[in-house]
Amino acid sequence: MHTSLSPTLSPLGESTLAGIKEQTLSPNRLIVIVGSGLAGYTLLKEIRKRDAAVPVTLVTADDGAFYSKPNLSNALAAGKTAAALASASAEKMATEQNATVLTHTRVTAIDTQRQRITTGQGEIAYGKLVLALGADPIPHGLAGSGAVDVLAVNDLADYAAFRGAIDGKKRITVLGGGLIGCEFANDLVHAGFAVDVVHLGDWPLERLLPIEAGQRLADSLAMLGVRWHFGRSGKSVEAAANGYRVVLDNGEAIEADVVLSAIGLRPRTQLAQTAGIPVGRGIQADRLLQTGTANVYAIGDCVEIEGLNLPYVQPLMAQARALAATLTGAPTPVAYPAMPVMVKTPAHPVAALPPKAGAAGGWNVECGDTGVCALHTDGSGRLQGFVLTGSETGRRNALVREIAA
Ligand SMILES: Cc1cc2nc3c(=O)[nH]c(=O)nc-3n(C[C@H](O)[C@H](O)[C@H](O)COP(=O)(O)OP(=O)(O)OC[C@H]3O[C@@H](n4cnc5c(N)ncnc54)[C@H](O)[C@@H]3O)c2cc1C
Repeated sequence: MHTSLSPTLSPLGESTLAGIKEQTLSPNRLIVIVGSGLAGYTLLKEIRKRDAAVPVTLVTADDGAFYSKPNLSNALAAGKTAAALASASAEKMATEQNATVLTHTRVTAIDTQRQRITTGQGEIAYGKLVLALGADPIPHGLAGSGAVDVLAVNDLADYAAFRGAIDGKKRITVLGGGLIGCEFANDLVHAGFAVDVVHLGDWPLERLLPIEAGQRLADSLAMLGVRWHFGRSGKSVEAAANGYRVVLDNGEAIEADVVLSAIGLRPRTQLAQTAGIPVGRGIQADRLLQTGTANVYAIGDCVEIEGLNLPYVQPLMAQARALAATLTGAPTPVAYPAMPVMVKTPAHPVAALPPKAGAAGGWNVECGDTGVCALHTDGSGRLQGFVLTGSETGRRNALVREIAA
C-alpha cells in the first residue's frame, strides 16, 4: 500500500496521523470514493473546489497515479513511457487535495446496511460512497495456444506491459476497428509498426460514422500502411515458432508478433450487483448520480444514468461537477452540454455528434477532397447531429454552438 496518510479503517480504527482523526471520529461525514481514474480524481478535485475540509478517502486497486487515459492510444509515436504519462503520484494527489488515498487496495464487498466497505486491509465506514470503478475490456473469447497472450490496454499498467511486449517487434494485429482500435492502429503505424486490423463491420466505427466518413478514415490509415480485414472476426490465436498466427472466421491467417484486443469495454458492475445495488448495463443511477441504494453514488464509465452509459471524458466531467455539488450540500442533477466524440487519428481526424436515438430527419453527406461533412437535420432543416472528418473537423465548434442554440 502506498499512501500519503495511514488508512482510516474501522473496526481496526487506529489511525497514526492526526490529520485523519476527524474521519475516524465522524464516519458519517466521510466521503469514500472507490477508483482513481479520471472520474474518481475529477470528483475529488471538484469537491475540494467547494469544500476544503470535508473528509474524503479515495480507495483504489491500482497505484493511484493520476493520468489522462485518452493518452494511452496516442503515446507510442510520441515515445511516451507509462511513467511519463503519469502526471502526479498518489502521494502528490493526496497532499494537493487534502485527502487520504489508499493505493493497491481493492474493495471486495459493500455492506449497504452498515455503510461499510471491505478491503484487503480491513473495513472502512462511509457516510457517502461513490463508485468510480471504470470499465473492463470485453473478453476476446479467442481459442488457441496464444490466446492468453492477447493484450488489452485499459490503464497505465496495461500500457507499460504493451510497450514491453512490442519492444523490438514489428507486426501487430489489432482486433477491433472502433474508436480505440483505430487510434492504436494510427499510433502504431506512425511509430513504424506493420499493422493489421480485424473488424467485424464493413467500415471502421460503423455505428458512429456514415459509410463515406468511415471509408475515408479507413483509406487514410491504409495509405499509411494499415491492412484492413473488414467483415471478419478472430477465431483463434496460435503460438507459432516466430510469434503468433491469428486465424479469422473465414480461415485466413495473419502472422503477428503481438495481438492487441480493442473490441470494447463494459462497465464494472459486479461489486455493486453483489451488494444488491441495481445494475443494468452499468450501475444504475438517477441524474443526481444516486444509485438505487441510500448514500451510494456512481460516476464515470461504470454508471448508467437513465439508461445511458457514456464512457467518455466529457460526460464524467459533467457528472463530477454535479455530484460534487450534491455531496457538499447543493443537490444538482447532471446536465450534459453537446458532447462530440473526437477520434484521435491524426491520419484523418474525426468529430462526431450523433443525433438522439430515433431522431426524425436524415443525413446530408458532402465529400470534399480533404474531408467529409455529414449533417443530420430534422424536417425543418434544424441541425441535430454531425460527423466531420479531416479538414472538415475545423467546423466542429460552430456546429456544436448551432446545436446548443
Ligand atoms: C485507450 C483509450 C482511449 C480513450 N480515448 C478517449 C478519448 O479520446 N476521449 C474520451 O472522451 N474518452 C476516451 N476514452 C475513454 C475515457 O478514457 C474513459 O471514459 C475514462 O478515462 C474513464 O474513467 P473512469 O475513472 O470512469 O474509469 P477508470 O479510468 O477505468 O478508473 C477506474 C478505477 O477504479 C479502480 N477500481 C476498479 N475496481 C475497483 C475495486 N473493486 N476496488 C478498488 N478500486 C477499483 C481502478 O483501479 C481504477 O483506478 C478512452 C479510453 C481508452 C481505454
